Amino acid sequence: MSKRILIQNALAVATLDNQDREYSPGAILIEGNRILKIGESLQEPADEIIDATGKVVLPVLVNTHHHLFQTLTRNLQAAQDKELFEWLSILYEVWRELTPEAVYISALTGLGELLLTGCTTTSDHLYLFPAKSPGNLIDMEIQAAQELGIRFHATRGSMSLGKSQGGLPPDDCCQSPEIILKDAQRLIETYHDPEEYSMTRLALAPCSPFSVTSDLLRETAALARQYQVRLHTHLAETKDEEDYCLQRYGMRPLDYMEEVDWLGPDVWYAHGIHFNESEIRRLAQTGTGVCHCPVSNFRLASGICPVVPMLEAGVQVGLGVDGSASNDSSDFMGEVRQCLLTHRYASGVASMPARKALQLATRGSASLLGRNDIGSLEPGKAADLILIDLNQLGYAGALHDPVAAVVFAGDSHIVDTSIVNGKVVVRNGKLVFAQEMDLIQKANQIAMEMVAKAHRKTHIDFNPRRYRV
Ligand SMILES: [Zn+2]
Repeated sequence: MSKRILIQNALAVATLDNQDREYSPGAILIEGNRILKIGESLQEPADEIIDATGKVVLPVLVNTHHHLFQTLTRNLQAAQDKELFEWLSILYEVWRELTPEAVYISALTGLGELLLTGCTTTSDHLYLFPAKSPGNLIDMEIQAAQELGIRFHATRGSMSLGKSQGGLPPDDCCQSPEIILKDAQRLIETYHDPEEYSMTRLALAPCSPFSVTSDLLRETAALARQYQVRLHTHLAETKDEEDYCLQRYGMRPLDYMEEVDWLGPDVWYAHGIHFNESEIRRLAQTGTGVCHCPVSNFRLASGICPVVPMLEAGVQVGLGVDGSASNDSSDFMGEVRQCLLTHRYASGVASMPARKALQLATRGSASLLGRNDIGSLEPGKAADLILIDLNQLGYAGALHDPVAAVVFAGDSHIVDTSIVNGKVVVRNGKLVFAQEMDLIQKANQIAMEMVAKAHRKTHIDFNPRRYRV
């Protein structure tokens, strides 16, 4: 018989199901990789019993947009105060030093941080393949995800429109459409598992309208539909992007995407800040999803995504941390809190209750990834859940509503326990399958080496203030 884990005596279990059921006290029985039972109190035999006294149990948070490789360039001095296009132009110079080892270590670091802050299913958008680097970068991040035990949706990104062709990225960070499509096919055939409870899936993700050609967008959509995998890209993130599309293609970004077959229930865009009312209606009508990245949007001063109007129109919306260089963090519960604060400011205090922000981060995000086996705690769903210990000073005095407390209160978002696919991957606030100190040292070392190499080649002073680290 599969291993049984019984979680009991929880201060609260918030299922975030479509009836928003909560149990207090709460208990959950897991068998193998599925949830078997949920109730106030369960008397069941189990191989492992987890005492959840003082803890809140939630479904996993799901991250639908990230660039894990950027973990090594977070907080770079020269890019700290720049808007998107200038910010990218500086960072491309460092990112072209990416190696398979850098991708692996940055993935372990970012994925570890996500697991520690409540996210146990994540996508990643890796779009930068330096000409001199071997082609196995996505293989390396899939390996990192498998080692840590996180559910992973890798997206094969791409850039094919270099500076010499009128695009933004340097030519030697771009690849030919033939190489991109061949590698996409290889990755899908090697790793994509469409089955229920799948731990690894693939999606295809050209980087943005200003870094790939129209032909590549069309061909990528055709390939994705041939293999029935999803499509993802950045869209409507900045006014600069809108101007670029109007100038180059004579169309607004969403019209352009429609022109190249990029609307539909199998597509989700990151950001969606600058959609107008009729575009929001078109997103809803076509089932096209939007990943909202509130911290990144504030960090780069890109604007506020109209999430409340989108939800009212029926658009599928989820949450994402975006790359670590435009967020400087992969703190996922921090993203949920920022979502709540942003839309209270934009649409009124009652527009974004704590449970609504949590729903966006769970069921909302799961729908963007095409998953109905995660996103809520229900019998038959995947055994993915987190335990948050409210016996901390940051929550003291906030137990009037323990579930909302995890968004409103707290001075650390490190969870007590994370279970993914029936396996404990975070215990007592520590990663089970990685040595955090080793990882910190390695990540810092590679980050400094990449910047030093880029400096030698470009003579750009990426960090003018000197520190002995
Ligand atoms: Zn992004």
